[in-house]
Amino acid sequence: MTVRLTRSLMSLAALATVWANGAAQTTSPLPERAIRRDIPLTNAIRRAFAAGTRDSTGRPGRNYWQLRTDYTISARLDAATSRISGRESVLIHNTSPDSLTSILLRLDPNIFLGTVPRAAPWVPAENTDGMVITRMTVNGEAVNLSAPPAPPGGPGPDPTRPTELRALGLNTTVARIALPTPIARRSSATLEIDWSFKLPGGPGAGHRMTMRWGDTLYQPTQWFPRVAVYDDLRGWDTEVYLGPSEFYNNFGRFDVKIDVPAGWIVSGTGVLQNPEEVLTPAARERLSRVLESDVVRTIVGPDEVGPGKATAAGDRLVWHLVADTVNDFAWATAKQYVWQATRATIPGKGPVPIHMVFLPERARFYANAGPIARHALEFYSRLWMPYEFPQLTLQDGPSAGMEYPMVINSNQGAADHETGHQWWPMMVSNNETWYGWMDEGFNQYMNILSAADTRQQPPNLDGPGQSYGRISGTEAEPPMMWNANYAGPMYGFQTYSKTPLMLSMLGGIVGDSAVQRAHAEWAWAWAFKHPSPWDYLFFMSNALKHDLGWFWYYWLFTTESVDGSIQDVTTAGSQTSVVVRQDGQMPSPVVLKVQFAPTGPALRPMRNATVVDGVSAVVTYPVDVWFAGSRTFTAVLDFGGRAIERITLDPYCRFPDRDPGDNAWPREAAVPAQAQTGGCRG
Ligand SMILES: [Zn+2]
Repeated sequence: MTVRLTRSLMSLAALATVWANGAAQTTSPLPERAIRRDIPLTNAIRRAFAAGTRDSTGRPGRNYWQLRTDYTISARLDAATSRISGRESVLIHNTSPDSLTSILLRLDPNIFLGTVPRAAPWVPAENTDGMVITRMTVNGEAVNLSAPPAPPGGPGPDPTRPTELRALGLNTTVARIALPTPIARRSSATLEIDWSFKLPGGPGAGHRMTMRWGDTLYQPTQWFPRVAVYDDLRGWDTEVYLGPSEFYNNFGRFDVKIDVPAGWIVSGTGVLQNPEEVLTPAARERLSRVLESDVVRTIVGPDEVGPGKATAAGDRLVWHLVADTVNDFAWATAKQYVWQATRATIPGKGPVPIHMVFLPERARFYANAGPIARHALEFYSRLWMPYEFPQLTLQDGPSAGMEYPMVINSNQGAADHETGHQWWPMMVSNNETWYGWMDEGFNQYMNILSAADTRQQPPNLDGPGQSYGRISGTEAEPPMMWNANYAGPMYGFQTYSKTPLMLSMLGGIVGDSAVQRAHAEWAWAWAFKHPSPWDYLFFMSNALKHDLGWFWYYWLFTTESVDGSIQDVTTAGSQTSVVVRQDGQMPSPVVLKVQFAPTGPALRPMRNATVVDGVSAVVTYPVDVWFAGSRTFTAVLDFGGRAIERITLDPYCRFPDRDPGDNAWPREAAVPAQAQTGGCRG
């Protein structure tokens, strides 16, 4: 776009400087545009750098640490009341350099109390009594549960010298256990909790707001008290659970025993430890063949219903699942699940099973689910790093479109995306609550690549980068570094949609395959760890061998765009001068596509140009041409005198632009919307 206002403002500012200095002769004018070129640091990341837990290599620092929490859970489902009762023991390994004077507990089911803050428009299926805790001990000592309730907004301040072992805020989504005897650094503590939770049913709005269909199908998620993350950036993670923003959990081992009526099939995170106790001999025989081929096999068919047919005989059965290193645990059960299975072949590792459990009348939603999940597991394993878990399960139910370790609540519709989440946040475990773009955004980007691979076409990332220019300036847009838990009405754009636009532009600078290679190296560096955004930014800048501070600053910390245009083109002799202007605050390289007359003098090569074919060339100038502060840059083309018919700025549509119509010369009187992107979207 072409706004002259900035130029006249600059003149005023320059004039003011002259007046202030009193002497006009030696004053240089302010730049038209001051470009910030570093990555802003917050106090949290400064502290981490100082402590050596993270550093500007973008790799885990020499002093990096993270908590580990190992869970042993016994849970019983009572279908008549839709209630799960559980007893859990959590071994908390305090690997931090601090002695912990409290433990923070995540009690997500309290979002169903109806008394805690929730982000609109997320509506629970029903209000319940939330997470009911009846007994709690720390290292065998009873915790006082009748302490006065905390305000509904959160856990309250950390008491510096608690005199009594007590829990605060059990009526909120983040409770605090005050410890008169701290957990010393490099030691561990055992937390035991007895609890129960009614699974909400009915017509809820938003993921995770409905966890059952009637009293015959259940998808328990966020279903047990979890120990919050304590990290080097913020200490305890005190963020409340508001609904849309997702999670930040410790890695650890889960040993889970689930007691359900016989005949009900259970699926979940981990590997089934006792198939001979809960499955029929027929089902076990069928399972033993799953890894033999890509065939989708039926393990329990629609006509195999009830104790002795769907499962082993009996009144109730206890399913024992174990997962070694995961950051959450989810499961599902139904009175009449059909169970199918196939396999995916993970490069460098071999075949792993893909399980699918669904209601018989919904089989059509799972007809292609196996092949889609297989493609996702194999494709993303090649793109980033091999799928590390021993299985993947797709679970049917009201929660459709949600991810957990080894488990996705999804049918074929979201199978590619939800499987993609096994890489982030399940293997590379970002803080989703604050920085949802590091899992949802990366996932949206790789879904584009997976979809193209499914069509057996090269991916086309031309277009998304430029399209951001039409969104930039929307007042409701929070910068990506703003805490997504409070992102507001543009949460979806901030968390999901903007990242592929950013990575489209990055590919326009360094090449898409370079972006993907660097991203894969980053994934390897942070597998089963908790990277911050800064770790990603510094790692990528180093891996790409580019000074990208300016790029990360404008994309992540601001909502600015480039807004490039061609202002003027003049020819003298064999030279053509192209005046390019950028009205936005974000700079970009200057990329010009030059289309020549079909005949005339031979094309003389230019150092920074690539001849595409006999009649066109692409000329590139690095972003550095803007760093001196001018808003205009004159590109002098000399291809030996062949007549130029058309010049296009940003021909691959990678740089955010409010009005791409002024990117062409000669300027057409009216540019149809289709032509504005020059067919960039393929
Ligand atoms: Zn997602």
